[in-house]
Amino acid sequence: MRELYEKIREEGEILSDHVLKVDRFLNHQVDPVLMMQIGEKFADIFRDERITKVLTLESSGISPALMTAYVLNVPLLFARKRKSLTLQHSLYTAKVYSFTKQEETEISVSQSFLDQNDRVLIIDDFLANGQAALGLVQVVQQAGAEVVGIGIVIEKAFQDGGELLRSSGFRVVSLARIASLEGGQLQFLEEVMNK
Ligand code: 5GP
Repeated sequence: MRELYEKIREEGEILSDHVLKVDRFLNHQVDPVLMMQIGEKFADIFRDERITKVLTLESSGISPALMTAYVLNVPLLFARKRKSLTLQHSLYTAKVYSFTKQEETEISVSQSFLDQNDRVLIIDDFLANGQAALGLVQVVQQAGAEVVGIGIVIEKAFQDGGELLRSSGFRVVSLARIASLEGGQLQFLEEVMNK
């Protein structure tokens, strides 16, 4: 997706060989025009899947997931990372090890909002080792619902998550795939393959 590639090139900050910071348009300040383009793209790709719900993980997945849900005209559901006073009973839960925070958290979704009739599109901002996506898959499976696809804004293709999810049979679509961040140089997978 050209607009996303340009944004990553212009505004992304390479923090290390493994971490890209995109606080200028996705993870802190949010570019709503780009988010809508992302939403339209995911909606186009998954339009025939009879999706009933878009599921993400708070907080950075919410903006692309909301736009996707808006275009598909279905609800957005986000898993919570912290227990809240109003969300304590009848939960689907999964443990997720966070790549960026290096700690395990329990994510949860109320059983009121997901059941065996749901066809779910999972959306997240980044794919690294696949733990966040796998946690969301577990939540969907606990509900007896079906994961019809996983949409990722930025996949770091040099980490294991993409292979893990695809080899488990999930349809994973990433709008930007990064081959490498080594030495402060960002290379998209597409560019490396076309060389
Ligand atoms: P995974 O669970 O696939 O290992 O990591 C995905 C999650 O970690 C995403 O939800 C995202 O919030 C965070 N994450 C992983 N790698 C990066 C990165 O390079 N930059 C940013 N900003 N977040 C990341």
